[in-house]
Amino acid sequence: MKIVVDRSRCQGYGMCESFSPEIFELDGDGELVLRTEEVPEGAADDVQTAVMSCPTEALSLES
Ligand code: SF4
Repeated sequence: MKIVVDRSRCQGYGMCESFSPEIFELDGDGELVLRTEEVPEGAADDVQTAVMSCPTEALSLES
């Protein structure tokens, strides 16, 4: 499963980072950095929660 970010929607709110900090990180400028695009085994539940938490619907998952 792969994480897709719509950069035009991301506003740097950081909800994703709070639910899944091992994957999502905001850099010093508030830009979202993906530590990996591929969802690691065992992280799917946290990543799905993070995707659903995004207030601007900037995140989606591709299988
Ligand atoms: S929660 Fe959404 S808007 Fe906020 S940093 Fe994550 S992807 Fe961007």
